[in-house]
Amino acid sequence: MPPLPRLQRRKQMTLQNYIGGALTAPAAGAYIDNIEPATGAVYSRIPDSGAVDVDAAVAAAAEAAPVWAAMHARERCDLLLRVAALIDEHADALALAESTDTGKPLWLARSLDIPRASQNFHFFGTAALHFASESHTSSENVINYTLRRPAGIAGCISPWNLPLYLFTWKIAPALATGNCVVAKPSEITPVTAHMLSQLCIDAGLPPGVLNIVHGRGATVGAAITAHPAIGAISFTGGTKTGADIARVAAPMFKKLSLELGGKNPTVVFADCDFDAMIDTVVRSSFSNQGEICLCGSRLFVERPLLDRFTDAFLERVRALVVGDPLDDATRQGAVVSRAHMEKVLSYVDLAIEEGGTVLCGGERVRLEGRCADGFFVAPTVITGLGPLCRTNQEEIFGPVVTIIPFDSEAELLAAVNSTPYGLAASVWTQDIARAQRMARDVACGIVWINCWMLRDLRTPFGGMKSSGVGREGGWEAMRFFTEPKNVCIRFPD
Ligand code: NAD
Repeated sequence: MPPLPRLQRRKQMTLQNYIGGALTAPAAGAYIDNIEPATGAVYSRIPDSGAVDVDAAVAAAAEAAPVWAAMHARERCDLLLRVAALIDEHADALALAESTDTGKPLWLARSLDIPRASQNFHFFGTAALHFASESHTSSENVINYTLRRPAGIAGCISPWNLPLYLFTWKIAPALATGNCVVAKPSEITPVTAHMLSQLCIDAGLPPGVLNIVHGRGATVGAAITAHPAIGAISFTGGTKTGADIARVAAPMFKKLSLELGGKNPTVVFADCDFDAMIDTVVRSSFSNQGEICLCGSRLFVERPLLDRFTDAFLERVRALVVGDPLDDATRQGAVVSRAHMEKVLSYVDLAIEEGGTVLCGGERVRLEGRCADGFFVAPTVITGLGPLCRTNQEEIFGPVVTIIPFDSEAELLAAVNSTPYGLAASVWTQDIARAQRMARDVACGIVWINCWMLRDLRTPFGGMKSSGVGREGGWEAMRFFTEPKNVCIRFPD
C-alpha cells in the first residue's frame, strides 16, 4: 500500500475558531471528536463552541463592518480573488481534507468540490464589479434610484455534503456585497472551513470581516440564528432545521434564505435518447453516494421503456466500485457518518416493509484493510413501490433510488408533485413540447431537460415548498445580501 497522505497520519489535529482575524480556541475549552467515515476512527477534534464564542465573532464583525462596507468594490474583489488563488494553490490538500472528512472519493473532491469553492470566490468577487441597481424616472424633474447597502452582519450556516463548496457559496456573495460574516460549517465536516480560515489570513482579509465558529447546530447554529445583531441568515441543510431557524428568525424580521431538503424526481420518457440518458441517470442517482441535494432519488420511467431501462441501469449500478475514497477506481465512497449509514439502511428496511423489492444493494459493504470499519453502503435500487409510500415521500439522502413506472403524463405529474419537496427535477425526452409542459408543471425550483447538474452560477438556485425559501446564485444572492433603499429626488423645476 502506498504511504498514506500527510493528513491521514496527523493524529488528533485540533481545529480552531477564526475570530477577529485570529485562530482561537473555544472559550469553554471543549472539543468534539471528528470521525473519518471511511475508517470509523477519530482523527481530529473540533471546537465545541458556545454562544460566548458567537458573541465574540459578532463583536469582531461589528468592528470590521464600517470599513469593509465602505471599501471600494475593486478592493473587495481583489481580496476575494486572492482567496480564490490560494484555494487553487492548496487544492490538493483541501481535496484530501474534504475526502477524509466526508468519505467522498478523493477524485470527486478534486474535480468538483474544491474547484467550485475557488470559483465561488472568483464569481462573486468579480460580480461585485458589475452589480448595479435600478433607477426610475418619474417625471422630468423626479428620479428614483435604488441604493443597495450591505444587509449588515450575515450569518451563514452550511451542511456536510459539499462542505467547502456550499460554505463558500454563501460566504463569497455576503462578503462581495460588503457584509461581514459569522459562519458555521457542519460539525460533521469542519476541516476545510478551518483550512479556509488560514487562507483568509494569508490573503490579507481584514480581521473580523469573516469569522468562523465551529460547533454544534443546537448551540452555535442557534446562537447565530438568535443573535439580534445578525440581520440576515443564509442556511442550507435539512427541512426540519430550516423550520427551527425560521421559527426563531421570522419574529425578529431577519432576512432569511433557506435551502432545504429534497426528494427529486428523474423522469425518463420512452422517446428519450437512451444512450445519453442512461449514464447521466446513474450519475444523478449516485454521485457523492447520493448525498447531493440535487440527486434524483425517484426514477419515473415510462412503461414501454421500463425493462430496457431497468436492465441497463442495474448493470451499470452493479459495476460501481464501492471502495477506499483515496483509491482512484472508487466510484462510491463512505457515507458521512455511522448515524447516517444507519438512517439510510433503515429506509431499505422500510421499503421492504412497504412491499418493495431490492433489485441490488440494500446492505452495508464491509471492506478490508484500512476501511474495515468504514460506513459504506452498496448503491441500492428498489422497485415495486407506489409514489405515496414513505420510502417515496421522505428524503433518504443516500445511495438509494426507487424505480416507478408510469403510463400517462397526468398520472406522472400527480406522482412527481406529490411530495412536500420541490427542489430539482431532471426530465428526459426528445419531444420539445412535452419538455416545455414538464418544465412548466413540475413543482421544482430547478428543472434540467436532457441533462443533470449543469450549473451556471448566474442562475437562480433553490427550491419550492418544503425545499426552501428564496434563491441563491447570481444577482439573487447579491440582492439577498443587500438592503434596497429607494431614494426619490426632486430637482428644482
Ligand atoms: P442539518 O439541518 O442537520 O444541518 C445543517 C447545518 O445546520 C449544520 O451546520 C448544523 O450544525 C446546523 N444546525 C443544526 N441545528 C441547528 C439549529 N437548531 N439552528 C441553527 N443551525 C443548526 O443538515 P445536514 O444533515 O448537515 O445536511 C443534509 C441536509 O441538507 C439534507 O436535507 C439536504 O437535502 C440538505 N441540503 C440542501 C441543499 C440545497 O441547496 N437545498 C444543499 C445541500 C444539502
